[in-house]
Amino acid sequence: MHVTDVNRVWRLRKRPVGMIEDDVLSLGQEPIPEPADRQFLFRLNYLSLDPTNRIWMSDMDQYMPPVALGDPMRGIVCGTVVKSRHPDFAVGDVVGGLGTWADYQVGRPGMLSKVPTLPGVPLADIFGLTAGIGPTAYFGLLEIGAPKAGETVVVSAAAGAVGSVVGQIAKIQGCRAVGLAGSDEKCRWIVDDLGFDAAINYKTEDVPAALKRACPQGIDVYFDNVGGDILDACLKQMNLFGRIPTCGLISQYNATGEVPGPKNYPMILMQRLKVQGFIVLDYAARYPEAIGALGGWLQSGQLKFRVDMHDGLEHAVKTLRKLYTGENQGKLMVRVA
Ligand code: NDP
Repeated sequence: MHVTDVNRVWRLRKRPVGMIEDDVLSLGQEPIPEPADRQFLFRLNYLSLDPTNRIWMSDMDQYMPPVALGDPMRGIVCGTVVKSRHPDFAVGDVVGGLGTWADYQVGRPGMLSKVPTLPGVPLADIFGLTAGIGPTAYFGLLEIGAPKAGETVVVSAAAGAVGSVVGQIAKIQGCRAVGLAGSDEKCRWIVDDLGFDAAINYKTEDVPAALKRACPQGIDVYFDNVGGDILDACLKQMNLFGRIPTCGLISQYNATGEVPGPKNYPMILMQRLKVQGFIVLDYAARYPEAIGALGGWLQSGQLKFRVDMHDGLEHAVKTLRKLYTGENQGKLMVRVA
């Protein structure tokens, strides 16, 4: 492929305070980089937008170094190799993993790997599911949540990327799946299309009362994507020896002051709960296991995966904000080329 296009690069200009405003990043045009020995150049096809982008922009305590001011914004990316100086990567290979918000970028093995193919499944779906979301749901639920058939699994941000997969895996395991989401449309989707047993609109319903109705046997596993009040409400209704995989705390990522701890913290003692945080990268060596299982469920129709696609790298910041306003349904992504 002949590389002649311009290279648009988003760089971090300042740390966000509250919601990510337009001036936190800036989009400029830069030369297309040259791959060194054992590197390759790829062109961005899809940019995954993830709640953790907000963490990487900030200087809060986090699980990898924050993006330095002035650096290209880090992202989970999918692209096509256009030049290669690495023996394992050929022009035309489709790669996915950690990269930057830029049209053209140099890839290093270790950060990126070839995106698997699944007959009949579009590339964006495979990338969205396998690049982090699927393994997050799979290992967080099955390893930490360890649900048994007949148990009740509750998940927050249930119409989002991770949550929608968690609820469906819970059903595959023979559990009762209950999701919390921020609109009636999302609640209908997870019950009618994805097969959850019940849904709670946490913006309009009394959450403790709705949880009681939806979980008559109590909660065995609460897969926490949001923290805050929803965590507190679930803590109060956990069964003895319940498990809480702490996956994300999106209700707090835009907080500007100190965030209060859960009021119902004593329930961890009284009910002998296991609460464990995890980062999907902890399971990187076992991704093939998760991808094999998820791919099988996708192909058999037991798992549905929805990509919420938006066009244009230039709209990445305004698209990213949808995660924090709840305007996305399914895996939020930008189509670039
Ligand atoms: P989603 O697709 O779920 O999008 C985020 C959703 O969060 C929104 O759609 C919105 O839905 C909900 N939300 C936003 N603000 C709030 C709030 N204040 N209170 C309650 N819900 C809110 O994103 P992902 O699936 O990519 O991520 C879900 C969670 O998983 C995040 O916390 C993320 O950080 C975490 N994560 C963790 C990983 C790990 O390795 N530990 C890996 C990947 C993700 P609604 O309309 O329902 O409010």
